[in-house]
Amino acid sequence: GFKVGIVGLPNVGKSTLFNALTRTAAAQAANFPFCTIEPNVGEVAMPDPRLDRLAEIAGSKEIVPTRMTFVDIAGLVKGASKGEGLGNQFLANIRETDAIAHVLRCFEDGDVTHVEGRVDPVADAEVIETELMIADMESIEKRLQNLVRKVRGGDKEAIQQERLLKSALEALEAGRPARSVEVAEDDRKAWRALQLITTKKVLYVCNVGEDEAATGNQHSAKVERLAAEQGAGVVVISARIEEEISQLDPEEQAVFLEELGLAEAGLDRLIKAGYKLLHLETFFTVGPKEARAWTIREGTRAPQAAGVIHGDFERGFIRAETIAYDDFVACGGEQGAKEAGKMRAEGKSYVVQDGDVMHFLHSN
Ligand code: GDP
Repeated sequence: GFKVGIVGLPNVGKSTLFNALTRTAAAQAANFPFCTIEPNVGEVAMPDPRLDRLAEIAGSKEIVPTRMTFVDIAGLVKGASKGEGLGNQFLANIRETDAIAHVLRCFEDGDVTHVEGRVDPVADAEVIETELMIADMESIEKRLQNLVRKVRGGDKEAIQQERLLKSALEALEAGRPARSVEVAEDDRKAWRALQLITTKKVLYVCNVGEDEAATGNQHSAKVERLAAEQGAGVVVISARIEEEISQLDPEEQAVFLEELGLAEAGLDRLIKAGYKLLHLETFFTVGPKEARAWTIREGTRAPQAAGVIHGDFERGFIRAETIAYDDFVACGGEQGAKEAGKMRAEGKSYVVQDGDVMHFLHSN
């Protein structure tokens, strides 16, 4: 599955947001830095009305949404990459994620201490980005040293790694994150394997005051401009409101959202923004037992999509019986779609489309 790491300076609302995400009180929020010490992991269901519709049509007993994993990563302060703060654990955890949700304090509240003594989300974003860039530079330098002998020995892989690491280092030393490096098609895989932190996509989460959830404020407006400049994702939410919403039952939630002038809960927007940022899509498997949603990257071919369900399905892939979501609904289900000629037999090179209802035939 896909994993998003939640980062941010202490006291910006990470724990509050994480509580809302996981609907537990496990990550106890408290008004002092370093409250979040252990990395906490939560799985969040992707809201998708199409899945409910499919289950209804097929009479599926169970509905299994697809999920995104959120990791609440311990607080980061200036100098964390030097092993001050909670640096090393932080860096180890963040390396494993697909994207970074960067929570920025956009709420004014004199009762909540800001580690830098002011509310300035754009400056906060820079503090963290700088720390992550330093961490990347340090890890690159170590890795380059470790590669010296292999490179001398003519090891092709090591030579490629060295070349890529050097291009990343050059960008970082010029004050640019590693994601600014243009990578040739042939190098993409090796580049990803380097797991540099500043190559990860960033989603800024503007945590605004309770009465600003629908409108945002001057601080979140600045972050939106920053995100546009950087090609990062951005959502405006109030972590406190989300925490309250997460404790209500669905009908109460709807009423509460309407009172606040919100079309959709912030967490739903957050997960959707994560999908968009990572270019993720959903395909479905539908039967009488269960209707289930699965996550893939845009451009995934049928065998690899099958592999998300089970490795054997990918290895023994024969073909995929495929019905587009709209056809499935319009024809009243699989049988109707089949009769209308809307069920396609797709082979190994088929690129799965968002909303496809799939049935994999395999030899395993
Ligand atoms: P973390 O250190 O980033 O995990 O921050 P916490 O989630 O523990 O939040 C720090 C403090 O800020 C807590 O007292 C929260 O209740 C408070 N807080 C979080 N979000 C908001 C918000 O939207 N408005 C206000 N006024 N306080 C908030």
